Amino acid sequence: MSADYKEELIRLQESGRLRQLRPLAGRQGCHVQCQGKELLNLTSNDYLGLAGDASLLRRFYEGMDAGNLLEGYGLGAASSRLLAGDTALAHQLEQDLALAYGRPAALLFNSGYHANIGILPALLGKNDLILSDKLNHASIHDGMQLCLATHKRFAHRDYDQLERLLVTHRQRYERVVMVSESVFSMDGDVADLSRLVQLKKEFDALLYVDEAHAVGLYGEAGLGKAEEQGVVADIDLLMGTFGKALASIGAFVICGQDLRDYLINHSRSLIFTTALPPVVLNWNRFVFQQQQAMGKQRRHLAALSLQLRQALQQQGLSTGGDTNIIPLIIGGDQETVGLAGKLQEYGFLIFPVRPPAVPEGTARFRLSLTADMAWPDLQGLPAILSRELAAVSSQGRIRGGGTR
Ligand code: PMP
Repeated sequence: MSADYKEELIRLQESGRLRQLRPLAGRQGCHVQCQGKELLNLTSNDYLGLAGDASLLRRFYEGMDAGNLLEGYGLGAASSRLLAGDTALAHQLEQDLALAYGRPAALLFNSGYHANIGILPALLGKNDLILSDKLNHASIHDGMQLCLATHKRFAHRDYDQLERLLVTHRQRYERVVMVSESVFSMDGDVADLSRLVQLKKEFDALLYVDEAHAVGLYGEAGLGKAEEQGVVADIDLLMGTFGKALASIGAFVICGQDLRDYLINHSRSLIFTTALPPVVLNWNRFVFQQQQAMGKQRRHLAALSLQLRQALQQQGLSTGGDTNIIPLIIGGDQETVGLAGKLQEYGFLIFPVRPPAVPEGTARFRLSLTADMAWPDLQGLPAILSRELAAVSSQGRIRGGGTR
């Protein structure tokens, strides 16, 4: 290996930023085995607890039409959708999605990452402008980098600043697209979609909402924050993934028919990649349908998240957001890595989240709750966190202002 790469890895290690792959074993619902120890998994995006739901899997496999193994459950699509990789299944899933959202069309992508890097560059050119929330996910950022359009970022959820940007710049560009996550992945807070819709209408802009952390969790039918806030019909491009609450892989965008057709012709991350395998399409259809009736799990998760937030606050720890993603800002990278290791000793699997995934000086724990957890799993955590954080700050090792 070239010396520069080695040096960079040493530098990352010394600054607490080295990322490593760590295999987990023996997953049983929200409990995992890590280095021989059973831990409560507080890092997962399996928000409805479906990835470890053996009875759901059994129902899926029992319902398989064995006569149709290759077409319905095969493990390889063999080519891209625009070549021979397209299937009736993909179209059925898209129809299910469009119907559930009550919108004209849906288009599948292989993942949320593919969607976010493929949609903006396809739709926008050099005379266009993207206005993006500063805390939007890396995949949205990467999509903007691939785009010829100008992009500007507004402060997180600062819609007054967004409005000022629209006032100043709208006239100079042909198309303007506003992009926001609905539930922010690292902060667990929520965009004001109604305000975004109002701005989009006032300034004749397009609205692109990433519901990766909301699909399955909000709204009567689990369609996301847009359903809960009653604005599905006003969102031009609503992106959701199957990779999180829906325990699978793949993603979709809900949009108008023309936009769908346009993306099929121009979106490179759709055109130049092998289609999702039939078995995944089938599971996605099954799980998307099943989740619509999971109001009970959604309510349980919301109540559990509130209970943990309140218990953390009672320990003097302040948290942001109001979803099942609970951030606890620690500040320094090394401290966050050290504390994560300590929490594993107590039986909690929490990975440190460090820059560049979050802004400098805001390394954190991102406590991610799932619907298969119960309060006894969590009740010891606030006191442990409070004690361990106090120990670190008394040694003067917290740089980022402790908790917030
Ligand atoms: N958008 C957001 C907000 C995300 O957090 C993520 C994944 N962490 C993605 C998109 C990418 O989705 P996927 O995992 O399906 O590629």
